[in-house]
Amino acid sequence: MIHQTLSGPLLKQAGIPTDEDVRTINSLKNPPPAPVSEKDIFVRRCRLAGDAIDAYHGRFRTEELSKLLAMVQGAPMLIGHNKRSLGVARFFGGSIEEHEGTHYIVPGFYWLRGHSSSDDLRVAIDGGLYCEASISFAYEKPTCSVCGEDIRTCEHLPGSLVDGQKEPVFYYYDNVVAVLEGSLVYRGAQPGTGFSLSDSRIGSFAPGTPANAFAIEGEEGAAVLQSILRIKRHGKWYRAPLVEEE
Ligand SMILES: [Zn+2]
Repeated sequence: MIHQTLSGPLLKQAGIPTDEDVRTINSLKNPPPAPVSEKDIFVRRCRLAGDAIDAYHGRFRTEELSKLLAMVQGAPMLIGHNKRSLGVARFFGGSIEEHEGTHYIVPGFYWLRGHSSSDDLRVAIDGGLYCEASISFAYEKPTCSVCGEDIRTCEHLPGSLVDGQKEPVFYYYDNVVAVLEGSLVYRGAQPGTGFSLSDSRIGSFAPGTPANAFAIEGEEGAAVLQSILRIKRHGKWYRAPLVEEE
């Protein structure tokens, strides 16, 4: 099982909750014990994971997006991945939408007006303090775009060019098993991709994550891919980061 975190922008339209929003929220698998009405909630939307190649050289298969959207339903949203805090909002509903040639899951999220800090959250979102939503998910297999094997063990390097391939090597997030949590985050979206690295990813990565997909923060704040040396010895692959000598 591999853990991955991706994020995408909050969408600007400050939505007025519709009847359908209210119906969807009240019929979540784990619905609010006291049904909500449109007067009880704030609703916003965010563009989450899509089927373009992201900063980690991973991508979702287009046909998997509806499954991912279903997994997001009812998931709580935290602030900045702080698991010790209570969720402030929940994902609900949404659709798969095309944006600049890429398909994205675009769920809504709601929070309660009656909560003592609900206006603080609304101001922070609408004022751009939190400008992204992010999800952590678990999946089983990073499938290589060239050979179809697990990219952690095949000979292809994510982001590298291979003869006869139109685009650099990437991998699919296959067998997504769960969406672990969602968060509101304040990092800027990475230009061109709509995804960004979350804080927790910088300087560390979960065991099992393809090491050569490990991205670090560049000098100008852009995400760059760390160079990795891979060596095969006695039938097993080994990796080491490249460190420039003075
Ligand atoms: Zn491969």
